[in-house]
Amino acid sequence: MKIPELLAPAGNMEKAKTAIIYGADAIYLAGKQFGMRAGAGNFSLEEISEILEFAHQHNAKVYVTVNVFPHQNEIHELPKYLQLLNEVKPDGLIIADLGIFRMAKKHAPDIPLHISTQANSVNSEAINFWHDLGASRVVLAREVSYKELLAIRDEVNAELEVFVHGAMCMAYSGRCLISHVLTGRDANRGACTQCCRWKYSIVEEKRPGEYMPVFEDERGTYLFNSKDLCLIEYIPELINAGVDSLKIEGRMKSAYYVATVVRAYRKALDDYLKNPDDYQFDKSLLDEVAKVSHRPYYTGFFFEKQAGTFIESSQNVQTHDFVGVVREYDKSTNLAYVEVRNRIAVGDEVEIMQPHAENKTMKVTQMINVKDDAELQEAHANYDVKIPMGEVKPWSMLRIKIESE
Ligand code: SF4
Repeated sequence: MKIPELLAPAGNMEKAKTAIIYGADAIYLAGKQFGMRAGAGNFSLEEISEILEFAHQHNAKVYVTVNVFPHQNEIHELPKYLQLLNEVKPDGLIIADLGIFRMAKKHAPDIPLHISTQANSVNSEAINFWHDLGASRVVLAREVSYKELLAIRDEVNAELEVFVHGAMCMAYSGRCLISHVLTGRDANRGACTQCCRWKYSIVEEKRPGEYMPVFEDERGTYLFNSKDLCLIEYIPELINAGVDSLKIEGRMKSAYYVATVVRAYRKALDDYLKNPDDYQFDKSLLDEVAKVSHRPYYTGFFFEKQAGTFIESSQNVQTHDFVGVVREYDKSTNLAYVEVRNRIAVGDEVEIMQPHAENKTMKVTQMINVKDDAELQEAHANYDVKIPMGEVKPWSMLRIKIESE
C-alpha cells in the first residue's frame, strides 16, 4: 500500500516550519521571482537553503514553484535563477510553462521537475507527454474526477499529485483574467484579488448607472463565489487511486490555517495507516477543518462534474478565532510563553491545538506581560505573554470559540 505524502503550502518561513511541525511530509513555496502568489511573502535563496535544512532534519521535502507564464522580457532572467536554484537543490521545481520546463532541464538538471496544476493536465496522454519529456510528477487539474483519476492512474507512470483542500477557482484551473481586467492584478502572476467572489449586478448598455441585481435571494448573488474543496473524508479512495501526493492549497493563508488543516489530514492518514482494513473516518476532523476561515466545504469535481458556488455571501465562515501561538513551555513554572495574535483576556475559555497530540481546553486565569512582568487583564496582537497552563508542546496554537449571535 502506497501512502501519499501530505503536501502543504508555505507562504513564509513561519508557515513552512509550522506545516512541517504539524505533520506535512512536504511543503511548496515560491522564491522571490517567478513563483506566483506574489503577496505570500516568498523566500530568498538563503531562506530556501534554511528551510531545506530544517525540512530534511524532519524528513520532509521542499518544492519550489516556478510556475508563472513569463513574458518575453523576463525569459532571459530565468537561466541564472534556475542555476542558483540548482545549487540550493530543493527536492522539486513546480513548473507550468513549456519554456521554463525546457530551461530547467538545461540549467537545473539536478532537480526533479513537477508539472503545475496551471498546465491543466486532465488526461493520461498529457501526463505521459510531460513524463516522456522528463517530468517526474504531474499535479492534476482540479477538474479531474475520481473516476477519471482511477483511469489515468492505470495509464501513466508519472507521480500524481491531487489537490484535496482549499480555495477553488470558478475559471478552469485558474486560467482567468477577471482580476487582471478589474484590478490590474494578474492571477497568472500570483496576484489574484479573488474578485470572482464579489457581488455582481447587470447593467443594460443604454441605462448606465442602473444596476440591476440578479437575485438568488434577498442577500444578493455571488454566482462565481466558489465553495472550498475538502476531501478529508475520502482518504481511502485517494489511497486506492494510487495518488502520490495530497496537496493543500493556500500559500496566502495563515500559519494557523496551515497547522489546523495539516494536522487534520495527518491524523486521517495516520488513522488509515494504523488500521486500513477497518478504517473509520474520525468525524471530529470535519469540526477541526471548520475551525479555520473558509467558505462552505464541498467535494469539488471529485464525484461529479459540477461546480459549487456559495451564493449567500462573499464572507468566509469559521467557528474559532486564533489568538496565539506557544513558543516555549517552562515546566518548572508551568508557564507557556505565548505570542498573541488576536485579543485574549483573563477569563477566556481557550482551546489548545497541539502538533501530534490531542486538543486541550482551559480557562485563562492569569496573563503576565513578558516585557515588564506586569499582570494583564487582556492582551492584543504582538504582545508576548506568559500564561499558566498544564504542559503543552511548543508550536501549540490557542483559539477561542466564536459565540454565535
Ligand atoms: S478571480 Fe477567481 S476565478 Fe479568477 S483566478 Fe482569481 S480565484 Fe480564480
